Amino acid sequence: MDYYEQLGVAKNASADDIKKAYRKLAIKYHPDKNPGNKEAEEKFKEISAAYEVLSDPEKRSRYDQFGHEAYTSSGGGGGADFNHAQDIFNAFFGGGGGGFSGGFNFEDLFGGGGGRRRNPNAPVQGEDLRYDLTIDFEDAMYGAEKELQIPHLVSCPDCKGSGAAEGATKKNCTRCGGAGVETVSQGFFSVRQTCRACGGKGHTIDKPCRSCSGSGRKQVVEPVKIRIRPGMDSGNQLRVSGMGNAGERGGAPGDLYIYLTVRPSRIFHREGNDLICEVPVPFSVAALGGKLDVPTISGKTTIMIPKGSQHGRILRLAGKGVPSMRGNGRGDLHVRLVIETPVNLSKEQQELLEKFNETLEKGNTPLHNSFVANAGAFLADKD
Ligand SMILES: [Zn+2]
Ligand SMILES: [Zn+2]
Repeated sequence: MDYYEQLGVAKNASADDIKKAYRKLAIKYHPDKNPGNKEAEEKFKEISAAYEVLSDPEKRSRYDQFGHEAYTSSGGGGGADFNHAQDIFNAFFGGGGGGFSGGFNFEDLFGGGGGRRRNPNAPVQGEDLRYDLTIDFEDAMYGAEKELQIPHLVSCPDCKGSGAAEGATKKNCTRCGGAGVETVSQGFFSVRQTCRACGGKGHTIDKPCRSCSGSGRKQVVEPVKIRIRPGMDSGNQLRVSGMGNAGERGGAPGDLYIYLTVRPSRIFHREGNDLICEVPVPFSVAALGGKLDVPTISGKTTIMIPKGSQHGRILRLAGKGVPSMRGNGRGDLHVRLVIETPVNLSKEQQELLEKFNETLEKGNTPLHNSFVANAGAFLADKD
């Protein structure tokens, strides 16, 4: 099993996916949760070793390049004995001083929310949101403005975010006594988690706001204008500050992240800031040379095909590629000639070609001749 399989993530998993996978497995297989279980301990060591490598971009790229065998035998990621695995675990869960077994608090591992002991009245920042946007190739070349309709949670205007209807009274939550967290037994563990009665708020309301069902936030769809800059590509992200979900109890709103995908063009293939355009050319034009009209993103241009051009020849048009997002340069356009053999010949054309064929000499087809010579030598060796 390679490190990705050990963590149960895909090869292209994000840093965040890897963190999440490790968090889940580390809690599951930690020896304190599985006393005397050798298998769990082995597993715990394995996932720690995997996480150590995959969480470090430099180590990960070396691992991807050289593979599991090479990596582990080089000693780079090996040596994951139990203490080392424990160190990785402590570093991850922020258990700075003291070991896990010395009274590590499981609260943080299950509580979900960030802080150690959270105050139910503390402001909570709103969630970030992701929106996937597919744009046309032309938009990525020339830039564009787009208006998107973004659903997100805003602070409820009717109750001003309190979640309470007019005249409602707030009561301290009886389940958690206002702390917002409750303690639940899981086997021989005691786990602190968000209170199920009040949802972590620490209080209950006898008459919840009808507009937001007491949550204090409401979903609305709002228009957001964004600007696609010329040269943007699939995988680029745009951040719209504050357009995520509203925060709670005065917390700041989250941000909106727009993930771009650019539709492929029918005539251009993009590689970084260079464009490649394959242009079919009749074989006679390639032989005789001549003018050729080619499309560029700034309009039509005419190029000269040199006499005797072979299939696959690339003619570079400097500065006719994609506008660079950094500075004002542009990539190049590579015109790749695809020599087309004529089809549907008329009788006259066929006769002309037959006549032409009779005139062919060795010097007309050097590639063919050298191939024939090489193939002959190869076959002669076989005898
Ligand atoms: Zn409301
Ligand atoms: Zn409660």
